[in-house]
Amino acid sequence: MPLYPIDIEKRLKALQRQARYEVESAPYVVYALLDPGEPSVQFEEGPFNGIPFYVGQSCEIENRLRRHFRKPQKLNPDSQMVHRHIAGLFAMGRLPRLAILETAQTRSQSLMAELRWGQRLMRAGYELANTSPDIGRVMDVDELTTWLDYRRSSMLASEAAQEGAIIVHRCTCGLADRWVDPADYTACWPKRLRVSKIAVRSQQCPGCGDVCEWQLEDRDLLSTLCPTP
Ligand SMILES: [Zn+2]
Repeated sequence: MPLYPIDIEKRLKALQRQARYEVESAPYVVYALLDPGEPSVQFEEGPFNGIPFYVGQSCEIENRLRRHFRKPQKLNPDSQMVHRHIAGLFAMGRLPRLAILETAQTRSQSLMAELRWGQRLMRAGYELANTSPDIGRVMDVDELTTWLDYRRSSMLASEAAQEGAIIVHRCTCGLADRWVDPADYTACWPKRLRVSKIAVRSQQCPGCGDVCEWQLEDRDLLSTLCPTP
């Protein structure tokens, strides 16, 4: 039996309340969306009172839930897989449930937790309607590390500054490593400035002119290993 928009809206409000209550004031949250299954199916008490079909992380969980519930009602050719999946559930009269899996204090921790949960659920045999490669298939440690680096590189400069992440440029010409602190960019640059943007701007080596490799590292850890240049 298909659902009325009002039923969908009611469930959205309920999940937003659940999120507010369970997340409290944590800045980041890792969550799963659950399929309630057939009406006759009973799930055990626990984090999963349904079948997980999507894992996400967000710093704005209530807005994210709103998107998850409203986008499926207006599908278009560019709609995300998760929204198509939810539209399919709506068509069967099923309203998704929510599991708050973990909260995190920084973006990196949140991305790492999302990665861990996605891989864990896939290994447990759940099919996820995520499109990102880390949750599309089981990965080995090297692939996961590369993927995490890639995801972290698109975090906001303000988030990097908050968690003490620093851009380090390394060149093969022998010039000393160059450190670029995203904190220096947070005051006078646009709010949505991403770490990758800063890195690209400062990527050219002043020694040889080549474009250097760069990666995000932990400022405090680096400071204990070598003195500030
Ligand atoms: Zn160089």
